[in-house]
Amino acid sequence: MSEPMLSNSESARFASPVASDPSVLSLRNVSKTYRVNKSLVGKKKFLWALKEVSLDIHAGEIIAVVGESGCGKSTLGRIIAGAFPATSGEILLQGQSLAHMGRAEFRREMRGIQLVHQDPYSALHPTKTVEAILHDPLRIHRMVDKNKISSRLRELLELVGLSPVENFLQKYPYQLSGGQRQRVVLARALTVNPRLIVADEAVSMIDVSMRQTILSLMKRLQKELGIAYVFITHDLALARYFAQGYRTIVMYAGQVIEQGPTEAVITDPRHPYSAILKAAVPRANPEEGLFTGLRPRTTDLPDLTNTVPGCRFAPRCPFVQDQCTHRAPELSHYANLHRDVACHRTPEWPAIAAASGESHA
Ligand code: ADP
Ligand code: MG
Repeated sequence: MSEPMLSNSESARFASPVASDPSVLSLRNVSKTYRVNKSLVGKKKFLWALKEVSLDIHAGEIIAVVGESGCGKSTLGRIIAGAFPATSGEILLQGQSLAHMGRAEFRREMRGIQLVHQDPYSALHPTKTVEAILHDPLRIHRMVDKNKISSRLRELLELVGLSPVENFLQKYPYQLSGGQRQRVVLARALTVNPRLIVADEAVSMIDVSMRQTILSLMKRLQKELGIAYVFITHDLALARYFAQGYRTIVMYAGQVIEQGPTEAVITDPRHPYSAILKAAVPRANPEEGLFTGLRPRTTDLPDLTNTVPGCRFAPRCPFVQDQCTHRAPELSHYANLHRDVACHRTPEWPAIAAASGESHA
């Protein structure tokens, strides 16, 4: 497949195992609106859940997506997984535009992208055994010869740590723990040999004691099978752990406002909103005060139906200036910081953060 779909600067920007290959998936200025019905009469109103998001996902890489509830993370994840179409913008699968694909081809290609949700219970058919849950996709998608389905199925269960396999084949989801169910969900995703897994808060509903083992399993799949992840979480610590050595994207009100190497973005944020997210993480030592000083000016949620010009974060931003309410900042690349930030005041950042009392180590 040809390269030109990827701009060189973008593909070179973040180290990825095979940065010269076309992306597994690329979004170009992708937006998604939902219709909101204030009342049955009156004007149609739309909410911009995603606004002009561009993103390249390379083979085998991990991208953490963070941001508060309602910022569009799940909408982004569902669009990446092909669960519903974007309202506008372009989506490229391995360099090829979805717009030019027929239905059958689209279905076949999108199989390479699997979505794993936070609730492993509702994701599994309650009256099917683990064996049936894995058997069906292997048979329907003809991933292996009929006579090899059983051995493949066992292989997958072992791969996700459900062994001895005999103990699990005839179990129903209700007979499994949350962690075991999420392993079955992962095994089912693996039946189709995915290139990319979108994990949307995939460990949020699992007991804290089990999280670590599920995350380690997911990482092992990335290393051994070369699977890429879009790892959606509202928890910065989880993002930092899972996307360590890769990159993190911070979203606010449907837009990417900062992205770059995980460690840099999470420990040394340069967008006021990312800095507020960081400051909201309770400190390990409560004697230092539970939270650091930086706060938004208001806790009101952003109005996603608002289409006035200017930065979407301006109403909450502690560093807002006149220009911010007139002109929306673009997501600009700062080579010295190894990242993209959408804020007019990024060049002044260490100084304004220090003046606000935010520690900036
Ligand atoms: P997140 O996963 O970050 O919490 P979502 O993508 O779920 O964010 O939601 C983004 C915004 O879109 C929110 O304001 C949410 O209320 C709205 N939204 C999500 N799904 C729908 C829908 N089906 N219809 C209308 N609004 C929706
Ligand atoms: Mg969500």
